[in-house]
Amino acid sequence: MFWCNELINGINTQLPQIINDSKTPSGRAHVGALRGVVIHDVIFRLLREKGVAVRYLYGVDDYDPLDELPYGKDEHFSQYLGMPLCQVPPPPGSQSGDMADYYISEFFSVFKELGIHPETYRMRDIYRSGQFDKVIDTILCQANIVRQIYKKVSKSERPAHWYPFQVICEQCGRIGTTEVSDYDGQEVTYTCRPDLVKWAKGCGYQGKMSPFRGNGKLPWKLEWVAKWQSLGITIEGAGKDHATKGGSRDVASQCLRDIFHREPPLNVPYEFFLVGGAKMSSSRGVGESARDMADFLPPELLRFLMIRPHPKKPINFSADEEYIIKLFNEFDRYHEQTYHRFQVSEEIKQTYLLSEVTPEGDYFNANIQLLQALVQMPHIDPVREIDLRKGSSLTPVDLKHLQRRIESVKYWLSHYAQEQEKLQLQLTLPVKAQELTALQRAFLHQLAQALPTTDWIDDQLQTKIFEVARLTPIKQPLAFQAIYRILFNRDSGPKAGNLFMFLNQDFLIQRFQELPYSPVDFWQESCITTQQLEDWLQEHKTTITAIKAIPHFSLKESHDMSMLEFAVTFTDHKTYLQRVIFEQNAEMEHYLKKFSEQTKISV
Ligand SMILES: [Zn+2]
Repeated sequence: MFWCNELINGINTQLPQIINDSKTPSGRAHVGALRGVVIHDVIFRLLREKGVAVRYLYGVDDYDPLDELPYGKDEHFSQYLGMPLCQVPPPPGSQSGDMADYYISEFFSVFKELGIHPETYRMRDIYRSGQFDKVIDTILCQANIVRQIYKKVSKSERPAHWYPFQVICEQCGRIGTTEVSDYDGQEVTYTCRPDLVKWAKGCGYQGKMSPFRGNGKLPWKLEWVAKWQSLGITIEGAGKDHATKGGSRDVASQCLRDIFHREPPLNVPYEFFLVGGAKMSSSRGVGESARDMADFLPPELLRFLMIRPHPKKPINFSADEEYIIKLFNEFDRYHEQTYHRFQVSEEIKQTYLLSEVTPEGDYFNANIQLLQALVQMPHIDPVREIDLRKGSSLTPVDLKHLQRRIESVKYWLSHYAQEQEKLQLQLTLPVKAQELTALQRAFLHQLAQALPTTDWIDDQLQTKIFEVARLTPIKQPLAFQAIYRILFNRDSGPKAGNLFMFLNQDFLIQRFQELPYSPVDFWQESCITTQQLEDWLQEHKTTITAIKAIPHFSLKESHDMSMLEFAVTFTDHKTYLQRVIFEQNAEMEHYLKKFSEQTKISV
């Protein structure tokens, strides 16, 4: 069952639901921060489909202090450490009003592309409008309960004069450095302490002021409580770092129960989004930002990446070729099953449909590996080639997705692809080709001979490659390795039959025949013993329909070696070749005689 259905089954669909998520805009949002956004959106869409009165809220936590410098921006930001994010000027040259707006607008631009449209709100507006004043008063009046819960749930001791609130210092404008030590129902007493936190230095000012109308904020565990209470939130997931036992989520839930006598929202704990095994962190500038990832992956692929695994499973993203091809192919498989299979699992169908940005129905998707090859081939227009391949002309929707995939391939090539992952057609014989064995070289020669009589259609070309491999004989992986090495100087690539379609026949024939080989080496590399031959025939005897033996006598005195080839045809009409070599002609003749007597095969 799709994870989201499991989850929704526990929700009372008769009641209105309010989903909430939020982000502190302290730097470029990382792609990992999108996981919760997409998970919440999926819940939102499914509930809406069920006719539930549901809202999706998204908060900008811009009253949080600047406590870490955005990667590479120390010079501009370090002087503002400790101030609320909405009071910090944006980086030089930006049109945004402040740092918070600057970073969140980049993140929100991605939401739009992913078809995610929550009702957004900013904490500065919530605090300044007085919307939280009542809740702040209640929490400050019951600070003793908060202290007890901290002690009981998270095992952290707070002194008796500790209050869960921080004001913006009237003298230096910092919020991260102030400590409230008393509340008289009207005003709080506070100190701006130089040593409260390591990342910012308070000015030492002491004062008294109202905690209301935006003068300060609740610490974020209590801010959670205030949001749940004031905004009526019923569903809010959180990353697994918050969801541990005794963690911030537990503290907030207990505060809500004990102070406001209300049950906390349904939690949807979700695992990390890792890149190459490392948890992404915006402060270290490691990994990729949400914006970068949305520039790279088409939006439906990015949604698919986020929702296909169960939220409890970590996503271990990698931009290497293998991972990317697998991701696109998996998406295409879900697409294909959704529209072209009589029986399709509900899970696949639902995952696919929820990956769509907007409902579009069926359309034509070009294979990503083929596109990678086409984009990298000189003098080829990928759109024209795909248009020819589709059979009917591309619809506007086909074309939109095709162009987005081409962009994606280009982005991958310029940002992530390793040299060895690039598929560049080698205009001269590549170095790596010299490593090919005599067997592989012989296969290429035989393939070259077969090409002129093969129809230049991808499926037929692919069939021909397999056929030549059986008759060489050479194991399939070694055969394809030979093709990729001699054309691209690498060991793997897209379906060769597809590839040949876009390459010149004369060029291929000439290239495949370019490497010389010694026939004796080739025979030795491809032969089996008489015992192996007999075992193999025995193993397949029920499906063999014909065996033809072809003797090759040694021609020269110099290499005294003769050879017997057996062309063995199976019930599926495929013919395999087996080769046995003998030291002397007489030995071969003797074996052949014995073999035909035993098997009643005329030679
Ligand atoms: Zn101060």
